[in-house]
Amino acid sequence: MDTAYDVIVVGGGHAALSAAIAAQRAGQRVIVLERAPRHLRGGNSRHTRNVRCAHGPGDAYMTGEYRPDEYLEDLRQVGGGRINGELARFVIRESEALPAWMTQQGAAWQPALRGTLSLGRTNRFFLGGGKALINAYYETCRRLGVTVWYEASVEEILASGDRTDGVVVQRGERRAALRARAVIIASGGFEANLEWLGRYWGDAVTNFAVRGTPYNDGRVLAALLELGAMRVGDPKGFHAIAVDARAPKYDGGIATRLDSIPFGIVVNRSGERFADEGEDLWPKRYATWGARVAAQPGQVAFSIVDANGIGAFLPPLFPPVQAGAIEALGELLGVPAAVLAATVAAYNRASAGNTVVRHEELDGVATRGLHPPKSNWARPLDRPPFYAFPLRPGITFTYMGVGVDERARIVDRRGRPFANLYAAGEIMSGNILESGYLGGFGMTLGGVFGRLAGSEAAAQAGR
Ligand SMILES: Cc1cc2nc3c(=O)[nH]c(=O)nc-3n(C[C@H](O)[C@H](O)[C@H](O)COP(=O)(O)OP(=O)(O)OC[C@H]3O[C@@H](n4cnc5c(N)ncnc54)[C@H](O)[C@@H]3O)c2cc1C
Repeated sequence: MDTAYDVIVVGGGHAALSAAIAAQRAGQRVIVLERAPRHLRGGNSRHTRNVRCAHGPGDAYMTGEYRPDEYLEDLRQVGGGRINGELARFVIRESEALPAWMTQQGAAWQPALRGTLSLGRTNRFFLGGGKALINAYYETCRRLGVTVWYEASVEEILASGDRTDGVVVQRGERRAALRARAVIIASGGFEANLEWLGRYWGDAVTNFAVRGTPYNDGRVLAALLELGAMRVGDPKGFHAIAVDARAPKYDGGIATRLDSIPFGIVVNRSGERFADEGEDLWPKRYATWGARVAAQPGQVAFSIVDANGIGAFLPPLFPPVQAGAIEALGELLGVPAAVLAATVAAYNRASAGNTVVRHEELDGVATRGLHPPKSNWARPLDRPPFYAFPLRPGITFTYMGVGVDERARIVDRRGRPFANLYAAGEIMSGNILESGYLGGFGMTLGGVFGRLAGSEAAAQAGR
């Protein structure tokens, strides 16, 4: 038993480090338990690029005003109207002060670059991405005297009644109880646990790529639910996009995303189209393609463009498969060549004579009499060579988590708070958004609730 710490923080991503810094600055002795080894520290936060914050007229880093009521409306839209308005308003209000606080902890900023899904007005970009942010926060932790243990996996939460005494942590062969006066859980979702996801989705998950860390397997979430914590967020729900099928199983990050879809068509392994590739502007639609590809046989699909389309989207990580004719492309992909040729021919007839000038707006250049339609940017694929990118679902994160109150305390199934057990970040995002996601909100939540949990836990521990 070790009693040298006042506050234990479980996890080593943005929410955890925000909490640790806030609690240590409030005068408590803090330990961070990060399951990953040092070189893979930082969870999914190290893959991020930006944080969404409400603000007045633009500054050097954001292009214009983003008012709290617009932010709230954006959250409502992605949540299908089902959001916790009170908590959402709190997070949005606090998001205004977040950049200044983050700067104090070592964050550096840059203006949005091209290809950033049109987020330059609403989101603030980290100079050097999430990895640089996380490194700066670890450095701040070091300076402040926060203890960090790597390869420290929390396996159990010690609790009796409404209080926690600490956690059980596994380090290599050693398993030990670590006691503290308050515990903050910031261990992310369970998106890296394909076995758990398989309980809802069956075999469809076997071909999933996990875009982020392999360490977010939800074992702490499971322990909390076992302890009687309230479950929030859609258990089946997750955010997934289509990534290049050659992406690594874990940690491919943002580089494996493919933005080619609106520039051509997408077919399944039978060579048939199955969805509208031009339904809406890409930033609004890219996240629907993970589930779409997951619903196809073998959970694979192919994005096909011609010589007019190639080069018009963000450069892909992997080179395309290339051929001089559609049939030859089908053979290279292992897709029935005659079916693929018929699919492209039907699409070309339905879009004959169409030309596309602008991809930045809905141009209404649509197919005629085709099912499913392509509603915008429908131009024939008629200029060889032809190119294909294989796709598979890439899961970003899950929605299920534990309930918290307005002081970041975890609540039980009847809504009663634990006295000294807190949560921040992805693991409590379901309190605001049951399902759905707004780009940049994950980091907002980690910052706002991390800071809150840190200062509340410090106050509790200091009592
Ligand atoms: C590719 C990609 C890009 C993204 N881009 C953005 C973006 O630009 N902006 C944005 O807002 N969001 C983005 N997100 C979502 C964002 O990553 C999350 O919302 C956010 O990072 C969550 O922070 P967190 O601290 O709660 O979790 P994480 O950063 O995932 O941290 C969880 C931590 O818990 C640790 N852990 C897990 N289990 C245990 C255990 N048993 N014991 C000890 N430690 C444990 C992990 O090792 C990790 O350090 C992106 C996600 C991905 C995958």
